Amino acid sequence: MTAFQPSHCPWPRCPSRHDKASPHIQRRGFFRTRHHPKVQRFLCLVCKRSFSTQTFRLDYRLRYPDLHLKVFWENVSKVTLRQSGRKLKVDRKTIAHRLHLLGVHAEAFHTDKLRQPAGAGFQGPFQLDELETFESDRRLQPLTVPVLIHRRNYFVVHLDAGTLPCRGKLTPKYRQKKQAREKLYGKRRSESRKLVTRCFEILQRALPPEVALELQSDRKQLYGSVLAKVFEGERSYRWRRESSKTRRDNRNLLFPINHTLAQMRDSISRLVRRNWGVSKQCAWLRRHLWVWLIWRNYVRPVTVKPKVPTPAQIAGVCSKPLTAEEVFTWRIF
Ligand SMILES: [Zn+2]
Repeated sequence: MTAFQPSHCPWPRCPSRHDKASPHIQRRGFFRTRHHPKVQRFLCLVCKRSFSTQTFRLDYRLRYPDLHLKVFWENVSKVTLRQSGRKLKVDRKTIAHRLHLLGVHAEAFHTDKLRQPAGAGFQGPFQLDELETFESDRRLQPLTVPVLIHRRNYFVVHLDAGTLPCRGKLTPKYRQKKQAREKLYGKRRSESRKLVTRCFEILQRALPPEVALELQSDRKQLYGSVLAKVFEGERSYRWRRESSKTRRDNRNLLFPINHTLAQMRDSISRLVRRNWGVSKQCAWLRRHLWVWLIWRNYVRPVTVKPKVPTPAQIAGVCSKPLTAEEVFTWRIF
């Protein structure tokens, strides 16, 4: 386990949070817990509160301290929540709790990494596509999952999940169901524009200034208008399009993004087509996607060959491959 030195006091309203330059944390001995024999205690000299390394741990106050790491591997191995519960001998709700914990942390971890100045491996081109799936009902509640990657190193810059309108050509039975749903929740609308805009805004912030952007995608008109809205006046950009009817082999321009979406369907249980593990709610799909992003970017090498770096290493975001333990031990404040 790596030694941990807190960079700031964990109390959100401590005045020292705004003055990180002055040293204000003092070591104050050790204590032991059931799972950790030697825990360092600290004292904040500004607010006089004491805390310990435990306060910064992701598994702080959890009954099964290593369970989230096991759940991480289940989450990226096409295992459903229910089956993970049976295998790890804990309740399904405990597994869901850890998925929530992992998902929220994964997003914070990746966001934090993108804040640091990117290396030369982060200059594009980039590729974007939307994977289609659904929550509970394939016809009435479709979802879109936009994924933005670096074309050469497969680094996933951002992903998200949101609603799509009901599908057309519904049978009378489904039309009735649709009307009943609309009375309860209102008309289901497309969130595609909102989510794609967010993908590009994150890319705009992460890219070094003065670097021209090349985006490659299919010919969906929406991408062109969002590109102009986000990048016009900010940096020069080029949009390279490929027909979605072009043969999808490894000579296709969009092979990297097609391959990434296929890999997501292979690793994430709820994206496997026609299976019982499908998402019941979009919010849970989002959490699961973020956990997968950590595995894809930071833990798994780009290919299965030995001594190959991870996408994050090639992108210059990390200097070495990370283990699940390294990513999911310390909270991001
Ligand atoms: Zn303090």
